[in-house]
This record gives sequence, C-alpha cells and structure tokens, in this order.
Amino acid sequence: MGDASREIMRQARKQVPEWTPDQTNEALTRQRKEEQDEIVLVDVREKNEWDEGYIPGALHIPRGYLELRVEEAIPDKSKKVVLYCAGGTRSMYAGLTMKQMGYEDVISMSGGFGQWKNNGLPFKKPRTLSPDQLSRYSRHLLVPEVGEQGQLKLLDSRVLLIGAGGLGAPAALYLAAAGVGTLGIIDLDVVEESNLQRQVIHTTARVGEFKAESAKQAIGALNPDVKVITYLERLDESNVGRIIADYDVIVDGTDNFPTRYLLNDAALLANKPVIHGSVFRFEGQLTVFKPYEGPCYRCLYPEPPPPELAPSCAEAGVLGVLPGVIGMLQSVETLKLLLGIGDPLVGRMMTYDALYGEFSELGLYRDPNCPACGEHGHPEDLPIYADVCAMPAARH
Ligand SMILES: [Zn+2]
Repeated sequence: MGDASREIMRQARKQVPEWTPDQTNEALTRQRKEEQDEIVLVDVREKNEWDEGYIPGALHIPRGYLELRVEEAIPDKSKKVVLYCAGGTRSMYAGLTMKQMGYEDVISMSGGFGQWKNNGLPFKKPRTLSPDQLSRYSRHLLVPEVGEQGQLKLLDSRVLLIGAGGLGAPAALYLAAAGVGTLGIIDLDVVEESNLQRQVIHTTARVGEFKAESAKQAIGALNPDVKVITYLERLDESNVGRIIADYDVIVDGTDNFPTRYLLNDAALLANKPVIHGSVFRFEGQLTVFKPYEGPCYRCLYPEPPPPELAPSCAEAGVLGVLPGVIGMLQSVETLKLLLGIGDPLVGRMMTYDALYGEFSELGLYRDPNCPACGEHGHPEDLPIYADVCAMPAARH
C-alpha cells in the first residue's frame, strides 16, 4: 500500500467503524433469533471469490457495481450496513463510498472473509453453473431478471406438456433451449405426415413414431441438460392427478374439450397453474389459469359445447405458423411463472388475429358461482366428459 492509499485508509477508518468477524457473527445471530432485519450484510468481492464461499444471508454487490446497484438493493439509507471483502480493505473503501452516498450507519468487517473462515465461522458455497452452462445460457445471464440464480431455478423446474402437437412442439423446443431442467410430455399419438406442417419438433424420418418419443429425441439433440419424461398414455381421470403432481407448471396443448375440463379440475385440486392456448385457422388465444388467483376454465365455459358445435379435431384447419406463435407465447408465460417475473396473463385472455395482424386483450373474471373454483365449487365432483375425438367411431 502506497502513502496515498494509507492516507485514504486512515481517513476512511475515521468515518467507517469496524467490527471483527466475531462481533459481526454475534450481531447476525442475535438478529436471526429475534427475527429482525436491522442489519444488512453486503459482500463486495468479485463473483469468483463469492463462488468459493460467502457468509449466509449476505447480499452480493461487487465493489465495481456498488454505486450502480446499492440504492436499489438497500433503499433505506438509515439501515445498518455491514460490508465485507476478502481482507477488510475493499470493504473499508466501499464503506467510504456508501457514506458519501448518504448511508448513515456503515460498518466494515475487519479481516474480511479470510478471517471469518479462519475463526471457524459458518459459510455457504453457492451452487453455480458449469463452464458449459455459463456458455450455453450466457444470453440469459446478461438479463438481470434471469441471471445465474434464475437459470439455476429453471434447471430445477419441471414443466408438463399436455400434447406434443401444434402448441406443444414449439413450446417444448423453446423451454428445452431455455434450460427448463425437466420436461414431461404426455401424448399417445404417433407422428403423421399431416402433422409436419406445424409440429416442428418432429421430422419426416420419424413419421410413425410416438410423438412423445420423437419430441424426446429432438430435445436430447438440442439440450443435454434437459431430462424428458414421456407418458405414452391419454390423460384421463385415473392418471391426471398422479401425473400433474410432479410438475410446477402445465402447458395445455390439447385440442379437445373433455381434456381441458379434466385438466382444469385436477389442476385446481393440485393448485398447479395451467398455461392455456388454442388455435383455429388464423386465430389464436392464450391465458394463464392460476388456481384461485384468476378465473379457471369453467369460469369461462361452465360446460362444453354440444359435439355438433365443436369443431372436429380432425377437420379443424389452421395456418401452420399460428400454433408456433401461440405455443411460443405459452413458453414465455411459463418462464415468467417459473422465474417469478413480470405480469403473467392471469385474468387476461390474449388473442391474436393473424390475418389482420393484431394482438388484443380481454379481461377475464372469476365467477363466484363457478362449479369448480367458486365459493361452493367442488372440482373433485364435476362431470368427466367423453372425448369424441378419441373414440374410433368419430375419427375421420
Ligand atoms: Zn372457476
């Protein structure tokens, strides 16, 4: 340390008092016991130092970002802030800066994290991404709303896709690319040539294979971080509760009414959010059914339409790109829920008119008399509807 640095340190010590690691530990332990939040602990070291271990409960604001980030992280300038670095010098400089920024009660921990560790005090090692993952998800890491912690959250997340068809295909590809760690795919159908106009996760070579298995192959080739669990079954009342129990978010890519009702009622019982999407010709719509926070499917449609009014599953035409648009918006809503960011489309129906080129939004309201989620609703007692599309006689 040169003369000038020594002088700055001397001046800093006059303004920023010091606590030893033991004093700091005592104060933090007391605070935890009394369930207070008087003291904010801030680690001002670099990321690589933090990754080697940190004091539990500390905020991490590297010295170089202090001026930029600290006011957002600690808006109340009367709070007691204890700063630490590796040895006690950088935290002292940081303390001086915070004093200049108007923080009233700033303390620097003498001896830093090195002394803390030497004294045998507790520390944690953060879970971090592997070098491959840092590179794969680098564009996520550059977004503060995602960052490394958000990416780890995505890798720990489990999303169930009902169907690997028009909506499920793009949703599965993008969720896999984004690093959602576990994707469940339930689909009993096999890939047909007529699917390839929109179901981009399948290939010509895989015509005749189960869609769920075909999707698993595509995802495996795209991102080895993702574990795919396939269910070669049709969702029905005997399996729906068991299957959805393991997931955080459900992406509804079904094309038939009975499954939507079945899923709605089971999701309410299990308290799982459903990202709903549907498409027809040039029009698509999506919304998020978050149990008891917004309306459910039965709030909007208490009963399915009579079969003669419902467009037949085999006959309904659609512009191939349209389910891509809606399926991708479903994956956006899924990521928002998993990360806990933004305003999910709860109580809002977004519609897309591809021919006119317009998105619009419709407010949706919970029906207090809803047979499923209303005050006297009983999602477990509601009727199960027959799937006209699944019945061989109704197939075209
Ligand atoms: Zn409802």
